[in-house]
Amino acid sequence: MRKALIVVDVQNDFCEGGSLAVAGGADVAAAISRYAERQGGDYAAIVATADWHIDPGAHWSQQPDFVDSWPKHCAVDTPGADFHPAVVPAIERSAAIFRKGEHAAAYSGFEGADADGRSLADWLREREIEAVDVVGIATDHCVRATALDAAQEGFTTTVLLDLTAGVASASTAAALTQLRNRGVGLTGTPVVAH
Ligand SMILES: [Zn+2]
Repeated sequence: MRKALIVVDVQNDFCEGGSLAVAGGADVAAAISRYAERQGGDYAAIVATADWHIDPGAHWSQQPDFVDSWPKHCAVDTPGADFHPAVVPAIERSAAIFRKGEHAAAYSGFEGADADGRSLADWLREREIEAVDVVGIATDHCVRATALDAAQEGFTTTVLLDLTAGVASASTAAALTQLRNRGVGLTGTPVVAH
């Protein structure tokens, strides 16, 4: 089965020192690069997603609830929106980058588009890819949403939890239950701070 690796939102703002830092993000970034070097040959393609905000409305808030609203993050053309340096080796192996969320919240990479405006689902189908492994940040938000959409789109979907970091333990546990219930395969253990 032709398989792709989807690297979700491993950007500076989601790693230590960023405006919406997820503990363990930088370690996950480095681990993804090691994995891509070791296992890259198992994949027909590696692709990446990026949160990419111009004016995402209520997704950004001065009083974020950390459920539906968040501190300002991943503003286009700021260092926070750049890929974390430790994940750059994996990004350099990527065939395409799917950016999402210019004018509204977009948690799933399947809401994004590549430089040619192509959706992730179309891009994968054009390459006859049938299965995806999903890694990145955050387990309980954009990894969750991307994996759910991948399964919904008919791809055999697995989340490699050792290569994900979660915002919080309760929402990560809920995400894993939801993923399991939708037929998403889970391997490993997510990094969760609290
Ligand atoms: Zn965002």
